[in-house]
Amino acid sequence: MRLIDGKKIAKKIKSEIAKEVAVIIDNDERAPHLVAVLVGEDAASQTYVESKERACSSVGMTSSAYKHPSNITENELLDIVDFLNKDDEVDGFIVQLPLPDHIDENKILERIDPKKDVDGFHPVNVGRMVLGLPSYVSATPQGIMMLLERSNIGTQSKQVVVVGRSNIVGTPISILLSRKAENANATVTICHSRTKNLKELCASADILIAAIGVCEFIKEDMVKEGAVVIDVGMHRLKSEETKSGFKLKGDVAFDEVSKKCSYITPVPGGVGPMTIVSLIQNTLKAYKKEIYS
Ligand code: NAP
Repeated sequence: MRLIDGKKIAKKIKSEIAKEVAVIIDNDERAPHLVAVLVGEDAASQTYVESKERACSSVGMTSSAYKHPSNITENELLDIVDFLNKDDEVDGFIVQLPLPDHIDENKILERIDPKKDVDGFHPVNVGRMVLGLPSYVSATPQGIMMLLERSNIGTQSKQVVVVGRSNIVGTPISILLSRKAENANATVTICHSRTKNLKELCASADILIAAIGVCEFIKEDMVKEGAVVIDVGMHRLKSEETKSGFKLKGDVAFDEVSKKCSYITPVPGGVGPMTIVSLIQNTLKAYKKEIYS
């Protein structure tokens, strides 16, 4: 079994991005700029935004966080989106989810200019992705595609099983892998909570992608000998064994599954670091007007 070291791959991609940003700055041009809009005090959201800011500064990009109280109205938030859409000094921005219940998430996401939608959640970007047109692809599926590519794991003609059909992970990764493209061309089965014979389907996969949100759901008897296993899950569990008082686990029972597969992503250090790198990669694409000229 070989570990797919997401941390190492993410570091390499970050150094490639940093080199490009250094050239931009050497040419006396402004650095690419990512803005994160944060509503409320949700601790996990604050941590995500902070790690995005750290990732930006580590490659020389500018980042700003627009923080707002949870009682901000939907119209006020729409005005902020309009402002960022027009600000020429902002290349891309994200609105950190989840939003408070009184705000319609779809309404906010649809107001973002697709050209600045570096999270790839706008229907225009999702539609373009489905059609195989240049688009911003959401960070986690884009990160998984890069993990596979950079680990030289071929997908052509492979049987891929994706467990989970969310709009941000399961559905887009299924579409990306089944596309008629050099780094795709897989035969993809997408599973969910109503799927029958889930165990058998998973055990038939050459590449199994777990995006379920249930801690250690994928057990050894659901995995084919020699399969590639990508664990998207992220669960913060209390632990007395660690200094921080918690440890991270995935959707895959790593200890038992890792003995059986050819490649596996660890949690932490697998898909997670790639997600943030994809976001800063999209910000650089926005700066260079690579998707929409
Ligand atoms: P989600 O929106 O909750 O979707 C979960 C999917 O799993 C749904 O499609 C659901 O089916 C399916 N599912 C749930 N229980 C199932 C079961 N018993 N059998 C078969 N399918 C089942 O989750 P998500 O946003 O995609 O996230 C999935 C996991 O990835 C979470 O642990 C999340 O924290 C993690 N995550 C990590 C990153 C990262 O950067 N590493 C990024 C995003 C998410 P139905 O559609 O039928 O309900």
